[in-house]
Amino acid sequence: MKGLWKTCLPLALSLLSFPLEVRAQSFTAVGVARASEGLIKVYDPSVRDVNLIVPAPKGTPTPCRKDNQSNNGDWEAFYCRLDRTILISQQALSQIERRYGLEAIATLVAHEFAHGRQHAVTGFSSDVVWSTVFDELQADCIAGVYMRRATPITLSEKQITRSKAFLENIGDYSILERDWHGTPEMRGAVFQFGYDKGSLSSCWASGEKNWRNVLVNSAVLIDKAIDKGADTLDKVLEKTPGAIDKLLERGSEFLNDS
Ligand SMILES: [Zn+2]
Repeated sequence: MKGLWKTCLPLALSLLSFPLEVRAQSFTAVGVARASEGLIKVYDPSVRDVNLIVPAPKGTPTPCRKDNQSNNGDWEAFYCRLDRTILISQQALSQIERRYGLEAIATLVAHEFAHGRQHAVTGFSSDVVWSTVFDELQADCIAGVYMRRATPITLSEKQITRSKAFLENIGDYSILERDWHGTPEMRGAVFQFGYDKGSLSSCWASGEKNWRNVLVNSAVLIDKAIDKGADTLDKVLEKTPGAIDKLLERGSEFLNDS
């Protein structure tokens, strides 16, 4: 019950605070977002504790706000790892619905919950390498899996095309994720890949096959090098030639895995 309050109260408050026509426009989008949330949580236990605020009223507080001003922008949709909360602003919701259709709402929700899964299961590669691009593409891949598996219906070709078109046209708008998200072609392709495979392992996002294991394996390699008497970073790297390259290579394998 407590959880329900947490989930529903911001929504109720936001509906009260917007003019009638805006409310009417986004009711369906909110429904689609909530339905997607429910289906994804049934499919994936690792994101059941993730909170979704949609539509987030202006000024919704989040610990991921850089300036800590509680100044919720008009065009925001992001996952905040500090409180495991997804925030989708009212404006983002209605603009995405208007421009790209309801499939895009489901795709956006799936992409953000994918970050929740990465956080819980695989870790973020961007904590280790210079770019967020692997995380973003992996999230698109996971979103494809969610769209295939976390639903009682099969999407039509048209719906899949619309979902892809949305990813191809926009990035997501997060304070923590302003880096490159991949080219439109990459985003569309990796979403399609996840959808076709319908398997989290194919996205390197399962318990057995994931980034964390890659990192642990690399750490084992480095430990071995240290055991052999390497006592400086240079020596460690020297004794584990290609370890970093391998790490990057394996992280991007899901793109080419067929
Ligand atoms: Zn993202």
